[in-house]
Amino acid sequence: MGGGVFFMKVVRTYNEEERGYRENLMDDSELVGAIKETFSQVVIHTDGAAEPNPGSGGYGVVLQYGKHRKELSGGFERTTNNRMELMGAIVGLETLTAKCSVRLYSDSKYLVDSVNQGSVFKWRQNDWYRTRKERAKNVDLWQRFLDVYGRHEVTLVWVKGHAGNPDNECCDRLALAAAKSPNRQVDTAYIESEDSPSQNSKSGKRHSRIKHKQEGEPCRKCQSPLVKRSPRKKPKASQAYYYEWYLYCPNCRSMYMVEEAKRFIEPDLDDPSEANAGEEENECKRRLF
Ligand SMILES: [Zn+2]
Repeated sequence: MGGGVFFMKVVRTYNEEERGYRENLMDDSELVGAIKETFSQVVIHTDGAAEPNPGSGGYGVVLQYGKHRKELSGGFERTTNNRMELMGAIVGLETLTAKCSVRLYSDSKYLVDSVNQGSVFKWRQNDWYRTRKERAKNVDLWQRFLDVYGRHEVTLVWVKGHAGNPDNECCDRLALAAAKSPNRQVDTAYIESEDSPSQNSKSGKRHSRIKHKQEGEPCRKCQSPLVKRSPRKKPKASQAYYYEWYLYCPNCRSMYMVEEAKRFIEPDLDDPSEANAGEEENECKRRLF
């Protein structure tokens, strides 16, 4: 008899299209429906680090689903702390093979607050400008994050770093080890953003805009002769392009991406992970990652 009223619950969700919070009243019958429509519960811990910042960096991820546990990590040659924090969350979520309900723990305020306070959705709405003049940073990674974030039901939870949370500490160790590993990847998008002055409105120091093209040219920051290098890691099929080689300064460790070495990757239309999406739910549940 009107019991529903007593079980009314206010559900506050961020609505991307309306760019604001929407408060929905749910009575108990709707709640039962909502509870039925739950997905596998996954817990992800992530951490990222760059030492110095910017410098060599890495991310660490621990995924947990029931009794299953998986650890992942990756290292990059020249990147930033924030990029590695974002990358950890992206890689963790991208690993899931079916829609999940995820609690993702991170010690990065940059990641957690930007999402939970809705700022990243505003940046996207404003063509990735944070203010009228200043562009948002790490747009490539934010786009990748939002893409995979939208495929799951994700709750981001901030945890204090280095405060005794064993999974957070495990991620920290994974990230630091990856940052020192010999087969670090090149964070191409970061190097490109460093190279384009318009992106770096804050850094007043503007190096001459000469684009380096070949080996032996003097580094525009320190004048040492540049050498040619090839990334040690093979490009992933998910990338749109990669650089077959780049120029590296052995003295100041600057990296320069060269247009001539840019190679585009044809999208693989026979990707089995796309073709089987939604099929065989039980199979997916057994192997979420
Ligand atoms: Zn140099």
